[in-house]
Amino acid sequence: MIPFLSLKEVTGLHAAEIEAAVRRVVESGWYLQGSENERFESDYARYIGSRYCVGCANGLDALIWIFRAYIELGVMAPGDEVIVPANTYIATILAITENGLVPVLIEPKADTLEIDDTLIEAAITPRTRAICIVHLYGRCAYTDKIGALCRKYGLKLIEDNAQAHGCFTADGRRTGSIGDAAGHSFYPGKNLGALGDGGAVTTNDPELAAAVRTLANYGSSAKYVFKYTGRNSRLDEIQAAVLDVKLKFLDEDNAHRKQVAAMYYEGINNPLITLPKRWDDAQNVYHLFPILCSKRNELQAYLKENGVETLIHYPIPPHKQECYASAPWNIGLQLPVTEQIAAQELSLPIGPAIKPEDVSCIIDLINRF
Ligand SMILES: *Cc1c(COP(=O)(O)O)cnc(C)c1O
Repeated sequence: MIPFLSLKEVTGLHAAEIEAAVRRVVESGWYLQGSENERFESDYARYIGSRYCVGCANGLDALIWIFRAYIELGVMAPGDEVIVPANTYIATILAITENGLVPVLIEPKADTLEIDDTLIEAAITPRTRAICIVHLYGRCAYTDKIGALCRKYGLKLIEDNAQAHGCFTADGRRTGSIGDAAGHSFYPGKNLGALGDGGAVTTNDPELAAAVRTLANYGSSAKYVFKYTGRNSRLDEIQAAVLDVKLKFLDEDNAHRKQVAAMYYEGINNPLITLPKRWDDAQNVYHLFPILCSKRNELQAYLKENGVETLIHYPIPPHKQECYASAPWNIGLQLPVTEQIAAQELSLPIGPAIKPEDVSCIIDLINRF
């Protein structure tokens, strides 16, 4: 049996250091808002190349706080529009709608599966305030054209970096440092994963960083003084300590993912299967390895019969979800590329701990399908 991702094996790669870090926090008697958060925030900000990092409870909250902070700072107001890729994980859209903002869904490119930057300008209106890009599957979604549109129309550039820790842009900056703000998730299965939930916002903007920190701590600007109606959305000390250990190995872990991806790209030759366009490996940290197949469900069943677990990212796109069935921005939306990806996508096992012989076995099985 080859699992999609064995978190036990992923944690096992660095078990001794992780256990020592957890023990240190347990024995310290200090479990929230302490030195472990400070150290991780400072190390992660340096790694990403941003001035500020603010830890929070999870990736969804990180994105929610970015939009909420812009509303509190008077940069955005409910009813304003945010341009976003249609084929993202629903959390990106939830962060927009949670704040009363309106998502404007843009189709991805069929070959890279990232937002199609040629479709963005036509979607900009006087109410557009931001472009939220998602480095989906671990591939850099930023293009110079997107940066130029943000400057031309005075839009904020927000990055959903939940799937792309450690990824670079074409000009050698880390994703998460190129926009006005970025949301990061440390969900256990992400490239930088905690042993539970975790998230962070990175930004170079001191006002935004302060607003996010305040919002994620009940809206408290000083002890027992409340500036905003916030929530309790903090990163705990144990998770921060674990993340600081795993951050040291992130580039190494991503290098392993790139080797696995290279094996898939070079090994898979079944004409029924389309691989996303291969591009500069610096611009992809292969959070997932998506393939497209018109007989996707049969392929998934065949792999399962042969002991290989796969997942679909994502079977139902946000605009087809019940929760948005009557949303005004969703009435009559036609998104054929997004819907085709949802019907054909299959994610193959990939991760920092998968063995090359298992990858070879998956390739042989796929080529015999
Ligand atoms: C995982 C993920 C999130 C949400 O992160 P959580 O920590 O699970 O809340 C947001 N956006 C994308 C693209 C994700 O993959």
